[in-house]
Amino acid sequence: MTVPQSACLRAALQVGYSWLDRGSSALLAVEQAIRLLERSGLFNAGNGSKLQLDGMRRMDASIMEGNQLRAGAVASIEGIVHPITAARLVMEETDHVLLVGPSATQFAEHFKVERHRLRTPPRRLSYGAMLKLKRATRDGHGTVGAVALDRSGTVAAGASTGGIDRMLPGRVGDTPILGCGVYADNETGAVSMTGLGESIIRVAVAKEICERLAQGTTPTTAARLVLQKLVARIEGSAGCLGLTPDGRFAIRHSAPHMMAGWWDGRGKLIVRDRFP
Ligand code: ASP
Repeated sequence: MTVPQSACLRAALQVGYSWLDRGSSALLAVEQAIRLLERSGLFNAGNGSKLQLDGMRRMDASIMEGNQLRAGAVASIEGIVHPITAARLVMEETDHVLLVGPSATQFAEHFKVERHRLRTPPRRLSYGAMLKLKRATRDGHGTVGAVALDRSGTVAAGASTGGIDRMLPGRVGDTPILGCGVYADNETGAVSMTGLGESIIRVAVAKEICERLAQGTTPTTAARLVLQKLVARIEGSAGCLGLTPDGRFAIRHSAPHMMAGWWDGRGKLIVRDRFP
């Protein structure tokens, strides 16, 4: 983890907590923390998003709250700095949960979600050449995500990503798929995932962790067991943030590193890149 990344994570934790401290919702705290990370350009989200093999930046994001299970998501959205805000707008301004592609971009433009200043020129590769280059890998500079618990006892989770390395145009990962990259339910907990979306989707990781929380498993054990399953069954790789409505939380990863942190607003703010 670089010094700027660590400082940025600390700033995001502070922003999220300051909203909660003023009595705002967990949903708003999650959105605001993620916006700071998207804007920084230091992570694979928003301004820092990876390019797909045709040279275009297509991003995914979702956000969910655990009281009424309200949620919004966008996939393959282009040209905006804050996909997480577009996801919240889908939740709040429409009867839908997920908008995709150019229609999602048009929706964000309608609501004046800030546009990227940098434009990348398209890469002119044949489809055959892209298929040869394609390889589902992740270099560890991942998705950004957050979970939070507010004074009313509601949990929320969100995530925003530019995807993975060498992805085909139109590839969508776990991040905008509820139950895979993100889930939040006041009866179980909130989960936000990072890692190889192709593996996280196949195990529906976020919902599986929540199911185990519902059975009374602790967040640490639930996260550990589901990540172990991901590795054992399909050689997957992921990291997770988990939080229960009574304030217990877990940060776990099966990949060697995961940059993350937590703050309960009292003790020290902790940011690390390994959580054994
Ligand atoms: N989960 C993201 C995806 O597959 C990538 C990441 O977390 O780094 O799109």
